[in-house]
Formats: sequence, C-alpha cells, structure tokens
Amino acid sequence: MRHVDEYRDGEAARALLAAIARASHRRWTLMEICGGQTHNLLRSGIDRLVGETVELVHGPGCPVCVTPLEQIDRALAIARRPEVIFTSFGDMLRVPGSTTDLLAVKAAGGDVRIVYSPLDAVKLAERHPDRQVVFFAIGFETTAPANAMAAWQAARLGLENFSLLVSHVLVPPAMEAILGSPHCRVEGFLAAGHVCAVMGYREYEPLAERYRIPITITGFEPVDLLRGILFTVTALEQGRVGVENAYARAVTRDGNTRAQDLVASVFAPCDRKWRGIGEIPGSGLALRPEYAAFDAETRFDVGGIAAEESPLCQAGRILQGLCRPDECAAFGHDCTPDRPLGAPMVSSEGACAAYYLYGRS
Ligand code: SF4
Repeated sequence: MRHVDEYRDGEAARALLAAIARASHRRWTLMEICGGQTHNLLRSGIDRLVGETVELVHGPGCPVCVTPLEQIDRALAIARRPEVIFTSFGDMLRVPGSTTDLLAVKAAGGDVRIVYSPLDAVKLAERHPDRQVVFFAIGFETTAPANAMAAWQAARLGLENFSLLVSHVLVPPAMEAILGSPHCRVEGFLAAGHVCAVMGYREYEPLAERYRIPITITGFEPVDLLRGILFTVTALEQGRVGVENAYARAVTRDGNTRAQDLVASVFAPCDRKWRGIGEIPGSGLALRPEYAAFDAETRFDVGGIAAEESPLCQAGRILQGLCRPDECAAFGHDCTPDRPLGAPMVSSEGACAAYYLYGRS
C-alpha cells in the first residue's frame, strides 16, 4: 500500500477533473455503492465539481442504513434482558428502533457495550460464563470475515454463552435488484473497493455483461474517486461494458480467498430484507446449520418481532438512486441528525446525514 498523500493531491485531482470534462459529451448518472464513498465525495466537493457531466446518486452501501427496523427492535429486546451483555460497534447504538435505541436501553440499566471487534465479544463471553454475550453482526462482505472468525472461535472454545444477532447483507444482489428495476436510472457503478478487497470482482463481471453497464472498482480518497469516475465515464462514452479495477493497490480479481473460505464455512447465502428496499433474494448471510447454536435470534426467540417504517421516510428511493436526500420532504425539518426519522440520517455513513453535514440542500 503506497502512502495516502498522493491520493489527496490537488494537482492530480485537477488533472482528473479536466480529463472527466473532456471525456464527457453528455451527463451520465453514476451510483457509488458505499456510504464511505458518499461522504468522501461530498466532503471533497467532487459531486459539485463534476456536476455538469456526472450526476452522482447514492447506493445502499451503508450497513447501518439497510439494517431493518425489526432487527433493531430485536436487538433492543435482547439487550433489555438482565442476563445479557449486548455488544455492538458504536454506530448502532444511536440507530432508532420503533420506540427507542440501544443507548437508551443502556441508560436504563441494560448492559450494552461497544466493542471494536467481535473477537472482543468472544473474550467477554469467556470472562463471564454466567452471562449471555451477544454481538450485533451487521454489515457487508467487509465485516463478515471477522464475524465468521468470532463464531468459529466460540465453537472452538466450546462457548455456550455466546451468540450473534446476524444481519449481514451482500452487495452484488443489491446491485442486481437496482439494475433490474424498471425505474433504474443508474448507467454505471463505482463499486466499493474494500468489499472487493475481500471478495475480488469476479461476481461483478456477469452483472456488467447482463445489464450492459460499466462497473469500476473504486477507492476512497479524492484521487481514487475521480479516477473511478473517469474510468466509468470513458467506458460509457466508448460504449464499453465490463469491470475495470481503478483500485489495484488494494484489490485483485480473486480477492482474499482465505477470508472468503472462512466466511463460506460459517455463513450461507439467504434471502434478506433491506431497510427501505424490502426483501432481496440471496442478498444476505445466515449462520450455517453447524453454527445454528450461535444464532441469537433463535436463542432469545425474537424472530417474530415485526416493525413498520415511517411513511415519511424516502430511504428506499434514495438507496436505489431514485431521488436525492434533499428531495425528501422531511429532510432538515422533521428529520435531522439530532432527530432522525430514518437510518440514512442517523448513520455516520448515511447519505441523508452526508447531505445535512455538507450543506447539500
Ligand atoms: S431525510 Fe430522513 S426521513 Fe428523509 S429519507 Fe432521509 S432519513 Fe428518511
């Protein structure tokens, strides 16, 4: 990995901006998948700098945003139990369920703890054999290896007081759902570099062929993002489809096969509901039958909990690129980072929070 400064270099960025302007003969609609990319595009002003030639719409790549409301409610129900130590990454604590959030459960006496790795939760379970330790296993292909390792480690240690509340989602089925919609506006994708660092990009190749679009594997720094935009716009102008890798310093076609093998040994694909979008076939990961004993949903019998999302929230349309956050009537009025109605406003990677934070309204 080379030093990051060269990917924040102003000269390089200006040259790429000029190249994008020269390459474009019409305005193209591109979707960046990842919420981290959305924030970096807005923070660096790239969305405005390329605005005449590229419309950027923001995909469903924020793991907090797409975790269904009922899954938050299930987490809350488990976290309230006196025998439970409920562990999570910090960004899930403020995400509102139907009535409250994990931070409020903690304030009311629930044992809710932030951990930096699911393996920390495994260690907690070892240290507290008299308590049930649950880890909120959300996220994309990027977090799946560590969560798989936690289940594998708990099995190896014979822990009977550790479980995972699983809400894993996968990127390619979501891209397919967006591309297959009759309302799809996306003409090219900037695919998330960190997901591809784990998974490689073989899975994207049949998608690009089937839907006749370019997909560019893209990094996160301003120069990376501009390079991803340039590759995609150039491909569109030349009528090329397929996958290009603009993040070769971190991504190979095959990805991290050891991590993939670990994930495949613990998790199997399943249908999964995405917040705001609904169920997408084959878009999630569930524990394999050999790891079913570590399934918190079954252990605490919370699978029957259902929830209704706010009818005001346009998260589903935003996450499919059908409208922008500032086109939601609640944006900045009924819905702000202090009083979020939907997950894209509460999450640090959410598109609505990014629009609010960087003044795009
Ligand atoms: S601004 Fe708020 S209500 Fe509107 S889509 Fe975003 S999160 Fe939902």
